[in-house]
Amino acid sequence: MAEILIIGGGVAGISAACQARQAGREAVILEAGDRYGGLLDHFHKDGFRFDNAVHFAFSKNEPYSEVLARADLITHRPEPYNYEQGRWLKHPVQNNLYPLPAEEKVEAIKSFVERPARGEASDYRQWLYEQFGKVIADRFPVRYTGKYWTVPPERLSTDWIGNRLYRPSLEEVLFGAMTDRTPLTYYLPELFYPRRGGFRAILDPLVEGLDLRTGKEAVRIDPSKRFVECRDGTREYYEYLVSSAPLPEMAEMIDGTPAAVKEAAEGLWATSIALVSLGLNTPEAGEHLWFYIYDRDIMPARVHAPYRKSPDNAPEGCSSLQFETYFSRYKPLPVSLEDLEGHVIGAAEKMGLLCAPDIDVTDCRILPYANVVFERGMTGRRKIVRDYLAEKGILPVGRFGEWDYLWTDQSYLSGKKVETLPCML
Ligand SMILES: Cc1cc2nc3c(=O)[nH]c(=O)nc-3n(C[C@H](O)[C@H](O)[C@H](O)COP(=O)(O)OP(=O)(O)OC[C@H]3O[C@@H](n4cnc5c(N)ncnc54)[C@H](O)[C@@H]3O)c2cc1C
Repeated sequence: MAEILIIGGGVAGISAACQARQAGREAVILEAGDRYGGLLDHFHKDGFRFDNAVHFAFSKNEPYSEVLARADLITHRPEPYNYEQGRWLKHPVQNNLYPLPAEEKVEAIKSFVERPARGEASDYRQWLYEQFGKVIADRFPVRYTGKYWTVPPERLSTDWIGNRLYRPSLEEVLFGAMTDRTPLTYYLPELFYPRRGGFRAILDPLVEGLDLRTGKEAVRIDPSKRFVECRDGTREYYEYLVSSAPLPEMAEMIDGTPAAVKEAAEGLWATSIALVSLGLNTPEAGEHLWFYIYDRDIMPARVHAPYRKSPDNAPEGCSSLQFETYFSRYKPLPVSLEDLEGHVIGAAEKMGLLCAPDIDVTDCRILPYANVVFERGMTGRRKIVRDYLAEKGILPVGRFGEWDYLWTDQSYLSGKKVETLPCML
């Protein structure tokens, strides 16, 4: 019997196990995959390393900075770009309109000046109009929402925004329309990335000595007899259960979940990503560490350059790019992975990032869980499922366990919630 049984060997599950160990408690992690790391993991192909989508460390929160302190990190200045109809604009676009034609700048600024007063916007579209005016909003973030969140912005609440979108003053919008010598207004001052070993390397010092069992996918939970059944037929008994598995899947796994809870769980959904990764035999691919794409006829929403995060991610003299195309139950991937690869290569050529003959390595894969979608009404449905888990004595942790828009540092902190278990007090 495990004193504390943890479902999931991503950063949240690992953090939970470390916290338990520190308190002298025995913890066992069940990980469905054959490696630890979850979203922080990477894969290799012919000497290239690709993370599971763009990942940087940026938090200063105390416990997490202890983790970062153990890693050998490269510091990056966050200078993302935006691609739209053949133009490259600095990020964020709202205060970097400089490359647009004069007439379009005037139209955008006029609409910014005439934007509705900031109020209690009940949906994301209204929020965008209030921050940026209709012209900038419709041209950039509204289009990006369709690509990244896969639904129109009026379907989203505003609960998740926080400081993620920069809200410029009129002076900043005017300044950025007149010059490209604008200051950095990205919401993070600097980004960190391990010099060696990919982003997952930040977890390596933590996992040493943990009882982490891979190939153990939890498929059924009997909370009265206190066991978790794995797909391989084995049962793990527990005193306390912690889970970083996706919240809606938990509702399905628990024996006897009431229909009302299942219904609430079915209303929780996340986006998925189709990742296309390219390894090139040229020393440079494009000019940017990462950028966003607004054009609707280009399927990926975001692109990053793994070799720029660290040269350790590509063989010497080579470069690499990774393209993220988002899809969901409301916007299925319109093409096969094979066709997506062809589309991405064509788009990359069009954007001037590469020449197809320079590509040595290609990889296409799906990440089923990317971003929890804050559809209006989601938090109410989430509460029903969370309350049910609490009633069954199960502690949900992590991005998909808590069903929240958590960065790595927040998922790490979330794992530390095991300290609230009675055995830890
Ligand atoms: C596109 C993208 C970009 C991101 N960029 C950044 C960034 O730049 N910086 C940053 O700080 N954060 C970033 N994040 C967020 C970060 O990835 C997450 O906060 C973090 O990885 C979540 O960790 P977790 O342990 O909660 O979940 P996961 O990493 O999903 O781990 C959960 C683990 O549980 C396992 N599991 C699931 N179900 C079961 C089951 N039934 N039985 C057993 N095991 C199971 C899974 O295999 C997985 O290993 C990004 C996320 C995405 C999607």
